Amino acid sequence: MSERAPRIAAVLLAAALVVVITTTTPWHLIDLPKPDATLDFTAAEIARQNQFRHELLPWSTASWALSLLVPLGIGFSPLGRRLYDAINLRRWYYVAPILVVVLGFLASLVTLPTDVMAERVTRKYGLSTEDWGLWFQDRATNWLLSAIVLIAITLGLFALARRWRTWWWATAAITGAVLVLAISFAYPVLVEPRFNDFTSLAPGPQREQLLDLAKQDGVPVKDVLVADASKRTTTLNAYVSGFGSTRRLVIYDTLLKDAPPAQVRLVVAHELGHAAEDDVLHGTLIGALGAAFAVVLLRLILRSKMSDPRQTALLLALIVAGSTLAAPVQNLVSRKIEARADYHSLRLTNDPADFVAMQHQLSVANISGLDPSRWRYWMFANHPTPPERIAMGRAWATEHGSVVPPLVRR
Ligand SMILES: [Zn+2]
Repeated sequence: MSERAPRIAAVLLAAALVVVITTTTPWHLIDLPKPDATLDFTAAEIARQNQFRHELLPWSTASWALSLLVPLGIGFSPLGRRLYDAINLRRWYYVAPILVVVLGFLASLVTLPTDVMAERVTRKYGLSTEDWGLWFQDRATNWLLSAIVLIAITLGLFALARRWRTWWWATAAITGAVLVLAISFAYPVLVEPRFNDFTSLAPGPQREQLLDLAKQDGVPVKDVLVADASKRTTTLNAYVSGFGSTRRLVIYDTLLKDAPPAQVRLVVAHELGHAAEDDVLHGTLIGALGAAFAVVLLRLILRSKMSDPRQTALLLALIVAGSTLAAPVQNLVSRKIEARADYHSLRLTNDPADFVAMQHQLSVANISGLDPSRWRYWMFANHPTPPERIAMGRAWATEHGSVVPPLVRR
């Protein structure tokens, strides 16, 4: 079997990824001083954050490590094939999905104790408001959704590889890319309602003000949606999802309830920044190219093994390994894009004082990590840290001649 075509495709897709990522990512917006949490956070706030993370991180890190170790340990050892053979059914297209479900269940079972402990810590600190019923329901929904996706990937890849031994990967790469586009487009209407109820922000001055802000920004927004996040959490947040006709701006009901209107306005201005820059669309495009690239890599790594469904566990292990290795790049790009949305909100509102106050309040309310270790920052941080965001607000104020007093030791 010729290696030339998939090698050329891999190089072309990698080049396309590099071009799209480098051209759509805002690498530099403004010079920032070294962020310093002690400028804006009191000793008590810093101590509470440290204590929370000291209690939470052992559990959450253990869960993360276990969720990697289980699929990797099984997939990269003979155990994966043994489990496959143990499912004693004749048709591979029955066995492979069952194995996916079994492995997912096993991973969920192994991480259950550490996840329960992590949830208990977030409850102790008042961040989580959900009962165990909803907690288990969310867990089951997540498990089901990822099982559906992984079964579709497994069945699709093996079926194509068995049908077209030479060119399966080209068809699979295109299908993968198209599926990423479709899922990202349909996500707000297909997946989000499984977790939350959404209602339009009630008519009134605040709604008018926010829609005016969108108009002023040149971003067409038909509606502002409020998610019933308070059934799970006390954290304050907002987001934009979908693109084209499914694009929506969502704010948490917790934000609406707990944050002053000037800060809600800033959060919405940040989300409008995502919409104005088409961040979801660019992210989806990068995801689509990434999916195609991943398929071609599978072809180069697994070669003819891809037509053997007994490699199901190995395939899953490669998917887990690939997404883990991609996380630092995704987070790096995400942090830059989030910084640009912050910058956008400052420009739109011209309100650096409330921006700094909001970043401070959000991070106190959410007990965000103020100064994560290097590896955590690279592996998990998809937003700049609160001190980095505050430093941006202050740098913007300096650049535009406004004065932002530090919040220190209020
Ligand atoms: Zn954002």
